[in-house]
Formats: sequence, structure tokens, C-alpha cells
Amino acid sequence: MSIEVKNINKRFGDFVALNNVSLDFPQGELTALLGPSGCGKTTLLRIIAGLEHPDSGQVLLDNDDASHRHVRERQVGFVFQHYALFKHMTVFENVAFGLRVKPRAERPSEDQIRRKVKDLLELVQLDWLADRYPPQLSGGQRQRIALARALAVEPRVLLLDEPFGALDAKVRKELRRWLRRLHDDLHVTSIFVTHDQEEALEVADQVVLMNKGNVEQIGAPDQVYNHPASPFVYGFLGNVNMFHGRVQDGILASGDASFQVPGQQNGEGKNGKGTAYVRPHDLEIDRYTPGAEGIVVKLRRAHAIGPLAQLDLERGDTSELIEAVMSNERFTNLQLKEGETLVVRPKRLHVFVDAGAPL
Ligand code: ATP
Repeated sequence: MSIEVKNINKRFGDFVALNNVSLDFPQGELTALLGPSGCGKTTLLRIIAGLEHPDSGQVLLDNDDASHRHVRERQVGFVFQHYALFKHMTVFENVAFGLRVKPRAERPSEDQIRRKVKDLLELVQLDWLADRYPPQLSGGQRQRIALARALAVEPRVLLLDEPFGALDAKVRKELRRWLRRLHDDLHVTSIFVTHDQEEALEVADQVVLMNKGNVEQIGAPDQVYNHPASPFVYGFLGNVNMFHGRVQDGILASGDASFQVPGQQNGEGKNGKGTAYVRPHDLEIDRYTPGAEGIVVKLRRAHAIGPLAQLDLERGDTSELIEAVMSNERFTNLQLKEGETLVVRPKRLHVFVDAGAPL
């Protein structure tokens, strides 16, 4: 089922939780709603589900206005961060629950329920836990059972609100890969709320970046990562160094350094205050030699474990700190020492120009 929300507004008292939000969620795709705490992700999800009503705007399911349809008629399945399974019921009975409470005319036979629950438990790879009770499961197992329970009623939309939020980092990583595979098998239109950018970029077909009740950007993961529409998106999607300065005629002057403003960027042709955004792995690092081009820095601290070395650098001209990442192999070959003077050059940068600010 495709979902469309149109001009959704929602206030809680004076507080604007959603500000004229319009979005498309294509049929069969997994969309991540990504943004900082309080930006309105859960409110939007609840409005799509029918658990919350917008002050204005529409929710269309398969191009049909569902704004006044009851939760039950919307055929959505939910998984929440703390989805309380029924503690006194076995895993099997938890998954069977949605089928047993169907109106008599739609309720499957006991045999059909058994077969269906068995299939679902196999799908989430936990059939061996059918007779256990929820307190006897790990957090990750509980969330997989919660997903099986949501899928039992064959929802046309799956809404997941931080489903792995309460789990530790390693289990989270495993489960998001697992969710992606499951989605590839089932192709249920799914919306996944998260404030973890890595999770959103890895799992989703489409990422919606939200900030203070507004949609900042929507696009495929590589598109939002490589072509962020705003400084907020750039900063939210990963660590970033900011070099503040002034842009004139395509050159950003920042401290003693200057950078060519890439032609295709938002700032094309504009003059004004500007900031270059550079990811730590997009910096090229060399030992300083007189006359070398780039930003002269001191190596304050290096942390080299596994394939990467992380470097804390301090700009010689402005004393600002710069974070850089390079391969551990290159770091070892260069034999860099803390306190040494180096020079860094951005291999890739993004410049946002505030044309309104005077030079
Ligand atoms: P988080 O990641 O912390 O869950 P979120 O992006 O999902 O955040 P929402 O839960 O949608 O954010 O909340 C958006 C804003 O609306 C928050 O500031 C929240 O305090 C407020 N809010 C949500 N529900 C209510 C309510 N029922 N009454 C008053 N304010 C509310």
C-alpha cells in the first residue's frame, strides 16, 4: 500500500509538532524517519496509524483519503521500542493473538493459526522459542517476536518506532541487517523511526530528515549523505569539520587557508559569509613542508585501532580543532608523532553561503 501525507499540521498547545508536512511513502519501500529527539517523528507515525489526529491535512492510503478511518480499518502493524508482549502468554500465543481476536467471520481455524504462527516464527528465525514466555527472552528476541506478532494479521503497512532503540549496539546492528533482509522478502510498505543516522542510512530505501516539525530533505541514503540540502542535514548525518570564513568570487577564505568553492554547490555565484563542511575522512594529511598548500595543523592526539586512525588536529591560525580519519596503514607508514606539524587539504567539501550576511 502506498502512503501519502499532505499538509499535515499538528500543535500541542502552542508547540508546533508538525509544520505543514507533505511526504510520499512509495508502495513496498522502507522509509526511515530520521531526526533529533522531539522533531515530530513519532507524532507523524501516530497520525499515519490513526492513533493521533492532525489539526489539518490528510493521510492517503493507496490514494484514498483515510483521514477519518479508524486505526483498525487502516490495516497497519506496529512495533514499538518497548512493545510489551503479553508476559503470561507463550511466544506462540503472543504471535497468534491478533488472529484469535479477529471477528468470528474472519478468524482462521485453529489449524490455520498453528500453521501461520509456525511460518512466522520460522521467518523471524525463532521457531525454537515457541513455548517460552517473554521474560525468558533476550531484548533482541523480544523485538523479533513483536515483529512476528505485527506481521500475523498481514498488515498492509508496517510502522516501527525505534524498534531496536533499547538494545545494545551489537544486537542493534545485527537486527537492522536482519530487518532489511526480511523487508526484501516481504515488501510490506514500512516506516521506521530512528534518531540513529547510521541505522537509517543502512536500512532504508528512502530517508526523510526531520527537524523541529519540518521536513529538511527526502531522498535515497546516498543522495542525502552526498548531497545534503542544508547545514542541518550535513551535520546530522555524520561527524563534520566546519571551516568558517567569507566567500568572494568562488573562493572561501578561512583563516590563512582558502578553498575553491565547488561549482555545483548551493553557494554557486553567491558572495557572503560561508562555511565549508568537510567530513573527517575527506581530509588529506601530509607532513608539513614550507610552502605546502592547505591548513597547517598540529597533531594533538592520535588513536589508531583496527583499520582506521583518528586524529585530533589543531589549526595553527585559528586554534580550532579538526577531526581527521586516515587508514591505519598510512598512519603507520608516515610514522606521525603527537605534537608534529602537518598540513591538511579537503579532498571533498561542501560550502554553504549565507548570501544575506555582509562580507
Ligand atoms: P523522540 O525521538 O524523542 O521520540 P520524536 O521526534 O519522535 O522524538 P515526538 O514524540 O513526535 O518526537 O514529539 C514531538 C514534540 O511534540 C515533542 O516536543 C513532544 O514533547 C511533543 N509532544 C508529543 N506528544 C505530545 C502530547 N501528547 N502532548 C504535548 N506534547 C506532545
